[in-house]
Amino acid sequence: MQNVYKVLASQYDPLGFILPYTTHAKVLVQCLWDKHRDWDDPLLPQDLLQAWNDWEGALRVIPSIHLARCYLPADVDQSSVTRDVHVFCDVSERAYGSVAYLRTEDSQARNPAEAGQGPGPTDSNYQKAETLILQRAQEDSFLDELHLLKAGKPIQSSSYLITLPPELDESGELIQVGGRLCRVEDLEHGILHPIVLNPSYLSTKLLIQDYESRLCHPGPERVFAEIHRTYWILQGRESVRRYQHTCKECHQWKSRPVVPKMTDLMMHASTSSSRHSIPQAWTVLDHSRSSIADLDPVTPNLILMGRPDGCLPQVMYPETELLSRRRLTQHSQILMDHFWSSFIRHYLPSLQACQKWHATRADLTKDKVVMLVDPLF
Ligand SMILES: [Zn+2]
Repeated sequence: MQNVYKVLASQYDPLGFILPYTTHAKVLVQCLWDKHRDWDDPLLPQDLLQAWNDWEGALRVIPSIHLARCYLPADVDQSSVTRDVHVFCDVSERAYGSVAYLRTEDSQARNPAEAGQGPGPTDSNYQKAETLILQRAQEDSFLDELHLLKAGKPIQSSSYLITLPPELDESGELIQVGGRLCRVEDLEHGILHPIVLNPSYLSTKLLIQDYESRLCHPGPERVFAEIHRTYWILQGRESVRRYQHTCKECHQWKSRPVVPKMTDLMMHASTSSSRHSIPQAWTVLDHSRSSIADLDPVTPNLILMGRPDGCLPQVMYPETELLSRRRLTQHSQILMDHFWSSFIRHYLPSLQACQKWHATRADLTKDKVVMLVDPLF
């Protein structure tokens, strides 16, 4: 038992890369405890001994396991990679485990012309599939133009493509932009001759969606510009805008806060009959400051004490200056009248108008998803 622990503890694996291996040994230890072996007992039960020897034998293989320190090979273009995390987990009576893989795909490498290297079998299949989808989209959208171009004839003057002007690509199967840039050197082929696409075709919409989410929902101009490095979508700007209008995430990032209309104040307005009573709706007077530029808030304390800091003791008057009970009551009434008249004259009118939040909007209702906006940030 001692020896088993010693060997197991000598495996230094802080990140758990060889856990699938060490877990076997841990399960063995569990079994040993079930069989009530003593700590110093050198003998293992026969079945466990065999399992242990197998495990120890495999230890020799462990040093041959190499793990790259970097997540990505150095030659992968960081800006063109997309990353996914794939997590798997499983459980048995003996153990449970999970493993996470970071899957990286270099979108530039998909296109051998751009990456300057030959595609692997998967890349080539991907390319074929893409070409087929583009061909299908063009056949469904520009069939007449395709026939005429393949026959070496000019397209109809009424065609949507007339201004591009269109031409066939090297394969002779896809319509690309001939364009005025064809004499400019040092530009990528895609920029010079983007593939022409119909904006209302489904695969075009999916293409916009893909660019949009890979670019993390930026402004329409950015999406439009990136797409045009490879594809020419007719009325491209409008198509991108139209798509973004329906995109939930774009809405989240671009929407403005909804502020409900200022509510009516809950004040007790019967001033004459409450000469001797204290107004009861103190807390609605003002909101506390959210910015250094705001005025000091009008608080219940300020009105009661006439100063902002309620912690300070009241002014102490000498006994000789104390008012008699009767005079004190009169004095309080005068103060109260004074307070109400100035409150009504100066402060109340400012509450009448809604200084902000004027517009009437639909109230937020149950089950609405909201994002809170902190005006300070
Ligand atoms: Zn979006």
